Amino acid sequence: MSIQKIQNEIEKMIDGLSLNVEIKESGTVAKVYDGIATVLGLKDVASMEMLDFESGAKGIAFNLETDSVGAVIIDGADKVMEGEKVTRTKKILSVPVDDTVLGRVVDPLMKVLDGGEPINSNHYEEIEKIAPGVMAREPVNVPMQTGLKAVDALVPVGRGQRELIIGDRQTGKTTIAIDTIVNQKDNDVICVYVAIGQKESKIAQIVEELKSKDAMKYTIVVLAGVSQGATKSYLAPYTGSAIAEYFMKQGKDVLVVYDDLTKHAIAYREMSLLLKRPSGREAYPGDVFYLHSRLLERACRLNKENGGGSITALPIIETQAGDISGFIPTNVISITDGQIFTDSGLFYKGIRPAVDVGLSVSRVGGAAQSKTMKKNAGSMKLSLAQFRELESFSQFDSDLDPATKATLERGKRTVEILKQKNNSPMPVANQVASIYAVNNGLLDDIEVKDIVQWEKDFQEDINKYHKEFLNKLNSTWDENIEKELLDIITTFNREYRK
Ligand code: ATP
Ligand code: MG
Repeated sequence: MSIQKIQNEIEKMIDGLSLNVEIKESGTVAKVYDGIATVLGLKDVASMEMLDFESGAKGIAFNLETDSVGAVIIDGADKVMEGEKVTRTKKILSVPVDDTVLGRVVDPLMKVLDGGEPINSNHYEEIEKIAPGVMAREPVNVPMQTGLKAVDALVPVGRGQRELIIGDRQTGKTTIAIDTIVNQKDNDVICVYVAIGQKESKIAQIVEELKSKDAMKYTIVVLAGVSQGATKSYLAPYTGSAIAEYFMKQGKDVLVVYDDLTKHAIAYREMSLLLKRPSGREAYPGDVFYLHSRLLERACRLNKENGGGSITALPIIETQAGDISGFIPTNVISITDGQIFTDSGLFYKGIRPAVDVGLSVSRVGGAAQSKTMKKNAGSMKLSLAQFRELESFSQFDSDLDPATKATLERGKRTVEILKQKNNSPMPVANQVASIYAVNNGLLDDIEVKDIVQWEKDFQEDINKYHKEFLNKLNSTWDENIEKELLDIITTFNREYRK
C-alpha cells in the first residue's frame, strides 16, 4: 500500500469520525405533543440544557433516556413539527438579569409583561444552581421585619431564613407576603415576588398595590400566568431564585416569595406525567421533594468573605381543610426553618392576620429578633397559648376564679392588639409600643371591643408627637426607655378616657 493510499484511508476515517460527533450535536423530533417533544439522535446533552428547534422554538432537555431525549418546549411549542432538526446549545437554561429588572414584571424567561422595554442584559444567570455550601454561609442573625405584629413578635424571621406560609385558601397568605415586601421600603432589601399559576388580573392588582406603596422600585415580579401552561409555572421559582442570586452576589439582602409551591408541584406533576415518568404518592413523581429542597436550599446568608448578601425565602403552600399532613405540605415543612400557619377559623372570626400561634414556629428567627422586640415579646407566645386553653374550658364554666378571669381578659386584649389590617405594616418600635401596653396591663380597663380603635388612635398619637422617641425605641431597650414608654402610654390613656 502506498503512503498516499494510507493517507487517503486515514482521511476517510477522520471524516467518518467528525460525522459521528455531528450527529450527537443535533437530532430530530420524533414525536411532539402537549409541549413535550421526543428527540432522537441527541446523545450528549446535559439535563436542563437549552435546545434550539429549527422552527425557532426553544426547549430544555428534561428526560435523558438511552436512545432519546424528552424535551420540554418552553417557547414556540405550536411551531414544532415532527421531523424537525434540534440542536444542542451546550448551555444550561439561563436568563438575562441586570439592575434594570427592578420595578419590572417579567415571565419566567424574562420576557417583559408590563409593556416596557425588553430586558437587554449581557449578563446571564443559570436558573438551576448548586446552593452555596456550609463554609460559605453564616448563621441567620439579622431580622427580616415583616411589619406584622403577629409575625415579628411571635414567629420572627431572619435574613437568610426560609419561612413557610401555609394555610387554606383565602386565609391571607399572600397578604402576609405582600405586606412584608411593602415593609422593606426603608430596610434596603430587594424583593422578588414569584407568582406561580396565578390569574394575571390578580397579579395586576398586586402590582398596582405595590406601586401605590412605592414598593415596586425595589421589587421584581416573575409571573407564570395560569394560561401560560405548566412549563412556565415549573420554571418560575428557579428564575426568581436566579434573579435573587444575582443581587445576593452583590452583597445585597434579598427577599423572595414563591406564591405558591402547591401549584408548582402540580405543574411538575403534569409535566412528569406527560413525559411518562413513573409516578408515586398522590401521582407526584418520586423526586418532588428534591424539586423543592434544591430550590429552597438556595436561600441563605453568605459570610463576609463571600460578600455577606442573603436570600430570605417565603414559600407559600395551600392546604385543604387545614390539613398540614398532606404529602407536599409535610415535604415543604421539613425543608423550611419554620412555618406561619394561617387558620380559616381565625380568619372568619376577624382575627387577621389569622396566624395560629400554636402551630406556627420559627426555628432560627429568635436569634434574629431585634433586642427591643425580644424583651417585650418573650412571654407573649406562652400566655397566648394559655389563653387559648382556658378559653375552651371556660365556655362551660361561668363561675371562674379571679386569676383565671384575669388571664382570660388579658388574653382577649392580646388577641385584639395583634390584629392588623392588610396593607399597613408597622415599624418595630410602633409594634413594641402596642405590645408593651397590653403586656403590662395598661389596657385592662379598656373594653375588648374598643382595643382596635384604641390602638389606631394611640399609634396616630405617637407617630405625631413622639417620632424621636420611636427612633430610639427602634434600636435600644433599657430602663430609661421603658420609663419613657410607660409615661407616654399612661399620659395618652389619661387623655383618652376623658
Ligand atoms: P388564596 O388562597 O386565594 O391565594 P390567600 O390565602 O393568599 O388566598 P389573600 O389573598 O392574602 O389570601 O387574602 C384573602 C382576602 O382577605 C383578600 O381580599 C385580602 O384583602 C383579605 N385580607 C387578608 N389579610 C387581611 C387583613 N389582615 N385584614 C383585612 N383583610 C385581609
Ligand atoms: Mg394567595
